[in-house]
Amino acid sequence: MELDDLVVSKAIIERFSEKLLSYSQIDVAIVGAGPAGLMASYAIAKRGLKVAVFERRLSVGGGMWGGGMMFNEIVVQEEGKKILDELGVTSREYKAGYYTADSVQTITTLASYATKAGAQVFNLVSVEDIMVREERVVGLVVNWSAVDMAGLHIDPLSIKAETIIDATGHAAELVKILRQKLGAKLLTETGDIIGEKPMWADLGEKSIIKNTRQVYPGVYVVGMAANAVFGAHRMGPIFGGMLLSGLKVAELVAGNTQTSFGP
Ligand SMILES: Cc1cc2nc3c(=O)[nH]c(=O)nc-3n(C[C@H](O)[C@H](O)[C@H](O)COP(=O)(O)OP(=O)(O)OC[C@H]3O[C@@H](n4cnc5c(N)ncnc54)[C@H](O)[C@@H]3O)c2cc1C
Repeated sequence: MELDDLVVSKAIIERFSEKLLSYSQIDVAIVGAGPAGLMASYAIAKRGLKVAVFERRLSVGGGMWGGGMMFNEIVVQEEGKKILDELGVTSREYKAGYYTADSVQTITTLASYATKAGAQVFNLVSVEDIMVREERVVGLVVNWSAVDMAGLHIDPLSIKAETIIDATGHAAELVKILRQKLGAKLLTETGDIIGEKPMWADLGEKSIIKNTRQVYPGVYVVGMAANAVFGAHRMGPIFGGMLLSGLKVAELVAGNTQTSFGP
């Protein structure tokens, strides 16, 4: 068979358009495909909700690829190791209670589980604004990352979602938009973004689960964004908390039905 270049192009255009249309109105929209966003998308998709992840970069995985200081190994504690085991990621004990895993295997496995469970990732897409109706966030405003990078004046498109999850890491970009554009009073102690505290792995990992919660009607925070918004310590290249935080937000937005791991 002779391959037709035009058919290849049309296939891509039609299939991507189908996908984008199908996900223009969804149950859950996650901003950021780092470890927390990916884990959340997997666990939410497994619970049967329609979920999409919008990721600014070409690749998913956020800050996990480079482990610590570009040494591509991650560390997890006992609870994190259980998740890696269930996902089938190879890990090795370093000392009692500390396990290491290859960051590339961890991300690729997570991404594979999430997408096979039905989570749709839109990479190269930046979330630049939110849609609000009657003091509730009801959707996202998105544009190609390349538009922003090139400084082009091109209007974005809107995605409607019942629930939004800020998984943008240290920057907590979505919650910042809420504060800056809406002056929204957040469900934090001060009503504002409290801000991240310095490195303290033990406290950072312990507080991230408590901080994974609703921060404004319709908006939840997960992963590093949760600690940044609620004012807790950063924890560096230990990643168990990111995975556990992803599971917790899935329980909050989609119920705590026990689901088995697997595609
Ligand atoms: C750029 C960057 C810098 C980091 N710097 C440090 C550091 O200095 N020290 C440290 O200990 N750890 C750092 N990390 C690692 C990180 O903080 C955590 O250890 C861990 O990766 C946090 O996981 P997460 O899933 O919460 O967020 P991340 O792994 O940070 O993932 C967040 C994802 O959200 C995407 N995103 C952000 N805003 C938007 C938007 N508006 N629209 C669409 N996508 C968006 C990002 O591209 C990224 O992929 C960094 C990570 C990144 C991505």
